[in-house]
Amino acid sequence: MAKERILMYASKQWSLNAYDYQIQKDQSPFEIVASPDLLGENTVHQAKGFKVVSIFVNDKLSAKTAEALANFGVGMVVLRCAGFDNVDVEACTQYGITVTRVPAYSPHAVAEFAIALLLGVNRKIHRASSKMLHGDFSLDGLVGWDLHGKTAGIIGTGQTGAIVANILHAFGMRVLCNDIYKNASLLLIPNLTYVDSLDEMLPQCDVVSLHCPLNAHTLRMVDAEFIHKCKRGFTLLNVARGGLVDSEALLKGLREGQVGAAGMDVYENETEIFFHDRREAGIHDDNLGRLLLLPQVLITPHQAFLTRDALGTIVETSLESIRQYLSGKRLHEVQHSLNKAPK
Ligand code: NAD
Repeated sequence: MAKERILMYASKQWSLNAYDYQIQKDQSPFEIVASPDLLGENTVHQAKGFKVVSIFVNDKLSAKTAEALANFGVGMVVLRCAGFDNVDVEACTQYGITVTRVPAYSPHAVAEFAIALLLGVNRKIHRASSKMLHGDFSLDGLVGWDLHGKTAGIIGTGQTGAIVANILHAFGMRVLCNDIYKNASLLLIPNLTYVDSLDEMLPQCDVVSLHCPLNAHTLRMVDAEFIHKCKRGFTLLNVARGGLVDSEALLKGLREGQVGAAGMDVYENETEIFFHDRREAGIHDDNLGRLLLLPQVLITPHQAFLTRDALGTIVETSLESIRQYLSGKRLHEVQHSLNKAPK
């Protein structure tokens, strides 16, 4: 049987290995063709001759790229992630391209990583490790604070936010939640309350953790005004999307002490930087360079999803979506309205 060739943009060895393993295990009639490049207007020509294209978080599928894909005969774009803020879904629909995603590969992986960032940045684990590497075993600069008895604010209480809320609650924190829809699983937990307005929530929180999607409504929601409303010295966590935070405003907040610390797995201009080895090329992004140097900031390269369990689910789900598409069915198709800002 002829194998269906799938073009995988933004491919990395760890990702290819996971797909190859699953394809061989299931004896699926698929062949992954790897491209290290990100999908964009300059690289879309690589998709010529493919029916199915696979992309990840930092590829850009604009209306122009969707038109080009359709002209090349591409009928399906498979996202290897949950978020789809990088895709013009409306344009894809217009050009007859089916877009699918992996709606839940492991919200636990992402939520647990948010907690790792919080514990790391609060208890200065990255600083301790770097001090010891340089022979400094003193405790200077390593004073943290107890989470127990403090207040956390969770913005977005879907899959990842709800797990973070539960873990922080188990730590003995008071948890305030904000979402456009209330998550029924959280409503009966004592010491966990929904608040309708950020104005009410932010001044009370020692930790603010972002778990909402990036869309027109949430773009740069953490700006100077947001930061000004927060409790002085609060810790900001962002494992959702870099575009939620205005990094200029964050840097200013950190400099002035209004932001006490930040744990970030994402960055607003991460596209050309994260997932690459930039030791030779350098970073060329002043704000990221400054953030990386601040001792009260812990940044990781969009790795919150990266567990064996999550990778397995990403691979299985995306291959199943392709199988369904090729047999005329749809699975985990992205609906344009999901990415719209709330009215
Ligand atoms: P989800 O869809 O389960 O939950 C998102 C929640 O945000 C929903 O309950 C939604 O109602 C709420 N929301 C939407 N707009 C809001 C607003 N303006 N204010 C408050 N709440 C709002 O998504 P999830 O699986 O919890 O993931 C959240 C985000 O995290 C995703 O959109 C994705 O961008 C990101 N993510 C990052 C990684 C990573 O590796 N760093 C991995 C997975 C997901």
